[in-house]
Amino acid sequence: MKIEILNTGTELLLGNTLNTHGGWFGRQLFAMGLRVARQVTVPDGEAIREAFSEMVVRADVLLITGGLGPTSDDLTREIVAETLGIELHQDEQALRILEHFFALRGIPMVPANLRQAMVPTGADVLPNPNGTAPGLYLPPRINGRSDCAVFLLPGPPRELYPMFHGEVVPRLRALAGVSDVAGVSELKFTGIGESDFHHGIDAALAEITGLEYGYCARIGEVDLRLIGLPEAIAAGRELALGSFGRHLISDDGSSLEATVIRLLREKSLMLATAESCTGGLIANRLTNVPGASEVFTHGWVTYANEAKASQLGVPMEMIAAHGAVSEEVARAMAEGALRESGADFALSVTGIAGPSGGTEEKPVGTAWLGLAEKGGETVSRKVFHPRARKDFKQAVSQSSLDLLRRRLVL
Ligand code: AMP
Ligand code: MG
Repeated sequence: MKIEILNTGTELLLGNTLNTHGGWFGRQLFAMGLRVARQVTVPDGEAIREAFSEMVVRADVLLITGGLGPTSDDLTREIVAETLGIELHQDEQALRILEHFFALRGIPMVPANLRQAMVPTGADVLPNPNGTAPGLYLPPRINGRSDCAVFLLPGPPRELYPMFHGEVVPRLRALAGVSDVAGVSELKFTGIGESDFHHGIDAALAEITGLEYGYCARIGEVDLRLIGLPEAIAAGRELALGSFGRHLISDDGSSLEATVIRLLREKSLMLATAESCTGGLIANRLTNVPGASEVFTHGWVTYANEAKASQLGVPMEMIAAHGAVSEEVARAMAEGALRESGADFALSVTGIAGPSGGTEEKPVGTAWLGLAEKGGETVSRKVFHPRARKDFKQAVSQSSLDLLRRRLVL
């Protein structure tokens, strides 16, 4: 099945917006055992016509993004209908969904929005719960001529991604005509690097018949992607978990923070955080997870020494004696957060993000982590992540969350 992608948007060619859709589609389709044959990017407006005319005769499936909005440069819907010689009509269902979207937000609907309820005759309306522009699906032979299946999809990722998974994937599977398309499994690991996999299990993974696998290294995390039929995936999983099971964050693509929240919820335990060098990143990551409010009580950002003392009761003499980045202070921060919040666990971090402020004894990239526990021993750990500030923060937040994850899976 020849799948082509047409990304529309002047901003993509001016360079103000990085075109991430091509790569994203590539990954999603690859995970289904399908591949992108070609990707084309054109500016808004009439340029779409030429690109579409060429692609629709060549491709079996055409995925078009962008240009479904209400403004005058959003012409994808009209151009596609015109080129295929199909009438547009106002669709009652699309209109009702649109009216509901505006009513819910208390915003008046302007006439320009009515264009978004125009649907080529014979097309399916793909609901868009995250925006006003519904997607459209024009099945092959919609007008008795074109054999290409055409999807018109919104540009913003938060609208496109759910629509792709909810509406496009099932139709693609049906079009591909195979039920046993290769499945995909993504295992996330932390505390080990890509090279551990290469040295550890790479050769054995390569021996598994019908298994395609790959790695993706992120900050403080390695994802192992397994592609194949269920038996092949199961064999790959068994191998990976046998060697690195205690480093596993999740086997369903869930993030470390989502895993920590899930574990806390399962055990009905509460968590507080006391952060210095991560500036609230740990609290931010935790609160990105739906349901965090059930388990997360407080997040302190005590950046200055005085804040560590006044908010968390860290003795100024301790800071003077050992420095703000020290095992003693990390432990005192965690214990202070535990006491002040009344939570069951408290995480703390204090470190040197750089670029300045490092010493020979405590170079830039050094951080101390603390984990205090109600009725339990406080633990501390030193980590070293000599990276640029933002990456340092991400790496330290990862180490801190993993300290708690490991405690919770004991
Ligand atoms: P649209 O109004 O549907 O054409 O798209 C509006 C917004 O979606 C753009 O301003 C971008 O922020 C985003 N967007 C559209 N296409 C892409 C793309 N190919 N890659 C990343 N973001 C995109
Ligand atoms: Mg646009």
